[in-house]
Amino acid sequence: MKLYSTNNLKHIVDLKTAVLKGLPDDNGLYMPISIPSLPSSFITNIKDYSLAEIGYKVCKTLFDGYIDASNLQGIIERSITFPAPLVPLNEKMGVLELFHGPSMAFKDFGARFMAQLMGHFNKDEDELLTILVATSGDTGGAVAAGFLNTPGIEVVILYPSGKVSDIQEMQLTTLGGNIRALEVAGTFDDCQTLVKQAFLDKELTQRKRLASANSINIARLIPQSFYYFEAYKQLQDHSLDTVFSIPSGNFGNLTAGVLAQKMGLPVSKFLAATNVNDIIPNYLKTGEYTPRPSKRTVSNAMDVGDPSNYKRLADIFSKEGSTWNNMKDMLKGYAYTDAQTTAGVKDIYDRFGYMMDPHGAIGFLALEEYTQGKDVNGVILETAHYAKFKDTMDSTLGFSTDTPERLQELLGKKKVAKQIGVSYGEFVKEL
Ligand SMILES: *Cc1c(COP(=O)(O)O)cnc(C)c1O
Repeated sequence: MKLYSTNNLKHIVDLKTAVLKGLPDDNGLYMPISIPSLPSSFITNIKDYSLAEIGYKVCKTLFDGYIDASNLQGIIERSITFPAPLVPLNEKMGVLELFHGPSMAFKDFGARFMAQLMGHFNKDEDELLTILVATSGDTGGAVAAGFLNTPGIEVVILYPSGKVSDIQEMQLTTLGGNIRALEVAGTFDDCQTLVKQAFLDKELTQRKRLASANSINIARLIPQSFYYFEAYKQLQDHSLDTVFSIPSGNFGNLTAGVLAQKMGLPVSKFLAATNVNDIIPNYLKTGEYTPRPSKRTVSNAMDVGDPSNYKRLADIFSKEGSTWNNMKDMLKGYAYTDAQTTAGVKDIYDRFGYMMDPHGAIGFLALEEYTQGKDVNGVILETAHYAKFKDTMDSTLGFSTDTPERLQELLGKKKVAKQIGVSYGEFVKEL
């Protein structure tokens, strides 16, 4: 399997390099040279396949023999270990629950698969591999859990101080072992900038083997395509058009959906649903991509002012004609304030008895706004369990929502994090 950089189509690498490097030196993002189609019988017979079998078939097609069958089987079996059920709200709308993994957010899929793939590619190396990851909330916990105790690999997590929930903070500061947390006195964008700077720092990359675990790593994206097929498999009526509504921040999840579509999944629209950090909805409206500093919201995992996967989306949709026209044919943008988001949480609970976290609620609002009167299969990606946002849930619903046992255990543990400022000098001293 070969990939290129979105900044230079002639910069071509194999999958191992793309996964271990994470980011090309030219500051682009890696993309597969070709996105092969699955056989049409795969879609027709999809009900016969488990989620892990779907994952295996997607990878087999995409990797095209790059990883042998038995290693690939092992990677899938060890990473795809929990389900992605589609829970109907009514006949037209379903919630794809992506929170059944260890950190209770969809990022477990990407993080576990990436950890397995990196472990596979790293197994013959002597030197320690350092994974750098900036998190706006959920990435850190998923990556920490995914890599915990992987031999030959250490993980350094950067998170914005005071801008993640208590549970999120505990998930990334309490594991110990090969996992270290840096609490940065800044925003998520500051954390992301520090990580990007580290990869461009020649002195550092000469003395340390670095890899990235953000949604910019192609290994994160690939497994996120599996559950779009899994959702389709669980739909009752395949004669209707299918619309996915995706609460988005860095747009890795949405890009993975487009990847699934390119491989043959029948999808009629993707809804790019954001909070007030509406860079992509704004681009879809105006044709201008204008990054802005992110604003803090109740859906904090989507507080992103310069979504990194925009480059991949622009690349995918640039193939023929105008990128903007192609993109707005397939993606519809929607953005909501915190007041609308919490009203959505309440509305979903009142009408369907379903507890949806603030991120998922944004997906719900977008789907409702889009579908008015349309006869489609609507699928909302529920990106995290509501218990991770207990304060917002409780104040919105007016009662104390329950906390699953595995999150409760976390709150009793001791936080270990090193506090640093936003300067690169301070960060690099820790490496
Ligand atoms: C990370 C995250 C998102 C945003 O996903 P992207 O792939 O970055 O768009 C949405 N919801 C939750 C709960 C998340 O953790």
